[in-house]
Amino acid sequence: MARRPKLKKKQPINAQQKTISFYPGPSKIYDRIPKYVIDGYRKRIFSVNHRSPEFQDLYQKTSAIFKKRLNVPDDYSLFFASSATECWEIIAQSLIKKGSYHFYNGAFGKKWFQQTTALGCRSKSLEFDINSEIPVSEAEIGQEDFICVTQNETSNGTQVSSRKIEELKSLFPEKFIAADATSSMAGVRMPWNSADFWYASVQKCFGLPSGMAVIVASNRLIEYALQNDDSVHYNRFSSIVENGRKWQTTHTPNILDIYLLYRSLQDAPKIKNTEDKLLKRKSRIEAAIKAIDSLDFLVENQNTRSHTVLTVKAENEVIETVNEKAREKGLIFGNGYGEWKSNTFRLANFPALRDSEIDKLINFFDTLSFN
Ligand SMILES: *Cc1c(COP(=O)(O)O)cnc(C)c1O
Repeated sequence: MARRPKLKKKQPINAQQKTISFYPGPSKIYDRIPKYVIDGYRKRIFSVNHRSPEFQDLYQKTSAIFKKRLNVPDDYSLFFASSATECWEIIAQSLIKKGSYHFYNGAFGKKWFQQTTALGCRSKSLEFDINSEIPVSEAEIGQEDFICVTQNETSNGTQVSSRKIEELKSLFPEKFIAADATSSMAGVRMPWNSADFWYASVQKCFGLPSGMAVIVASNRLIEYALQNDDSVHYNRFSSIVENGRKWQTTHTPNILDIYLLYRSLQDAPKIKNTEDKLLKRKSRIEAAIKAIDSLDFLVENQNTRSHTVLTVKAENEVIETVNEKAREKGLIFGNGYGEWKSNTFRLANFPALRDSEIDKLINFFDTLSFN
């Protein structure tokens, strides 16, 4: 018998963490993760075969709790992949037949477009301003069978509103819509019915260790893939679906992350409650930032400003000073990304952060002085 690991009783495990990460990915993981890992170890779940009834049971239960907590409609199914980046490839290699049309305003949306083009798809793109909603009426969408949107652009803290995704769906009902929700899924509600292929890697808003992505796909797309996906990649979507129907996966998956997803969702509130909480936190952070003359939000338009990734803009030196002062207080801010690398910092507003940690953040801004 293996000896069971003992947690030090005197000190809660999170008391050893002297810093709080507000990085929007990889981000702070739930404080309950160590407990889940030990439970899973004791249940021997990390050593089960991925074709065994034990794994099938875990997948099925994870799918059920996922759909319940995140309000996913019945005609959508949950699948696993290794990363959001891999999802770009799965969509390009398995699903796009005639072409794809990409709306983007930041680094992740652009990379998705470039990767899809590099894989030989006939892709078109429309870049839009961070303060404008996606310009649906300007898009010249013709034969393309896929429309691609980055629902939450982690690089600059913008989001595409549910209303806009619904508008796309109603204007192009015969097209498939793919949505990257890596830094928003599990934090705010998704208009599931308005897109066919939703995906997110779990090291951001899900508050889990990196190394897995979730895919939420519509029956319409699943049926289409089973008829039309004749690609030979080990992770072709049709094979993911065929395996998924047996509660199995194409290859040995990240069972640790699947188990952590299952446990963390069991302990999570309904998505509406999580969203309400995050929106309140967002308003508090906005008020604290607004009170400081030299800091501003990069995204001015409230309709396009993300709820879950907040990007603050200032002179380069101010950004450096604020990051430095925050670090002295044990608060780690996310660096700016791409073209906003030096003149912004980013703050995750993810559910794994505790109220007390948000309080520390607010207190930091309330007492910030530049002397
Ligand atoms: C982080 C991120 C990705 C890439 O995620 P990986 O897990 O590294 O593949 C893709 N899209 C968005 C919007 C992201 O925030």
